[in-house]
Amino acid sequence: MFRSRLRQSLIGRRTSDRCLYHVLAIESSCDDSSVCLIDRPSRTEPPRLIDHKTVSLDSSHSGGIIPLDAVAHHLQSIPPLVNSILRENNIEKVDLVCATRGPGMFSSLSSGFNLAKGLAMAWNVPIIGVHHMLGHLLTPRFFSPQSEPQFPFVSLLASGGHTMLVLSTGLFQHTVLADTIDVAIGNALDKCARQLGLKGSMLGKELEKFVVANDDSGPHNVSKSFTFPTPLSNRCGRKDVAAFSFASFVSTMTRMSESLYNSQPLAELSYNDRKEIATRAQSSIFQHVASKCQLALSQAVAQNQINVNDEGLRFVCSGGVASNQVLRNMLKGSLSEFNPTFYFPDPQWCTDNALMIGWAGIELYESGQWSTRLDELPIAKWPLADLEPTRK
Ligand code: ZN
Repeated sequence: MFRSRLRQSLIGRRTSDRCLYHVLAIESSCDDSSVCLIDRPSRTEPPRLIDHKTVSLDSSHSGGIIPLDAVAHHLQSIPPLVNSILRENNIEKVDLVCATRGPGMFSSLSSGFNLAKGLAMAWNVPIIGVHHMLGHLLTPRFFSPQSEPQFPFVSLLASGGHTMLVLSTGLFQHTVLADTIDVAIGNALDKCARQLGLKGSMLGKELEKFVVANDDSGPHNVSKSFTFPTPLSNRCGRKDVAAFSFASFVSTMTRMSESLYNSQPLAELSYNDRKEIATRAQSSIFQHVASKCQLALSQAVAQNQINVNDEGLRFVCSGGVASNQVLRNMLKGSLSEFNPTFYFPDPQWCTDNALMIGWAGIELYESGQWSTRLDELPIAKWPLADLEPTRK
């Protein structure tokens, strides 16, 4: 039977070396209901994941996430998930509760954050409200005995909800080097996949599988003029724009269907034609990301924001899209001039999960500079650059 060794708030015990404690974490910012339990033996020993559970909303029939469906999903899923993970691991209470506070859909965030507050109140333990993006970029440190990468490091966070390149020089110091000016990369990949007739709740993943399928697809009839754009390139008075843009990849597919195929939906083309278009679409989108990362990093080096010394650049690639092997290989090629060490979390920890919230919560908590009050609300829009210590 689990016995909590700490019954008091641990905040303030910064110098304690041996401080075994147990953490419950909840993630509910979008459509994944996720909970986990983490053991923290001491500050010098790596944390241990005790258990992790996720139930994802299937939005494949609605063509996108409907906020009311998402909140209903969380309200139905999270309490039983918390109940079962505690019971199955013989845990009566934990010493710290962490939950995503933002950014994300307010109603979805509320369902996890409010339950976390209630549990923290009932157990008389601290609650830590966590920034979702901080969770993504700190994920590799959970799996490293020495908490690698050490600051400073750069992260590409690429998923259905976000696409940004972030320079992190400390737990609370984050500079966005490049962001998307329209939709997120995962959103664009989903829409391209849907136009090609692919099905599933994770369409970007389906597109990746479709492209790499080793099925001896034969010759295709896709015209050479079916090319994808290079958004934000040096044209029309623009020069060296360090930002991402994905909307034009989707509109290109719509236009091409009209102009090259007599408005025949791309989903009705032959398998080989669809596979050729899928390959070109994915490759163009990733090439855009890799080239803009290279540009933004070059600018940051030129402005002395980044010092690529003998150790080279520490580069984290996280978020649901970041697990794509084609993207990872392209980044390795494009960023070689920075002598990078890459940190690629295992794909299961690239998508939204509670482990990353638990770990970021532990880092915030042990910093002694962060606390969350019971009257705090979820934050739907919460720029990473606005993260500041709440306790100085
Ligand atoms: Zn995310």
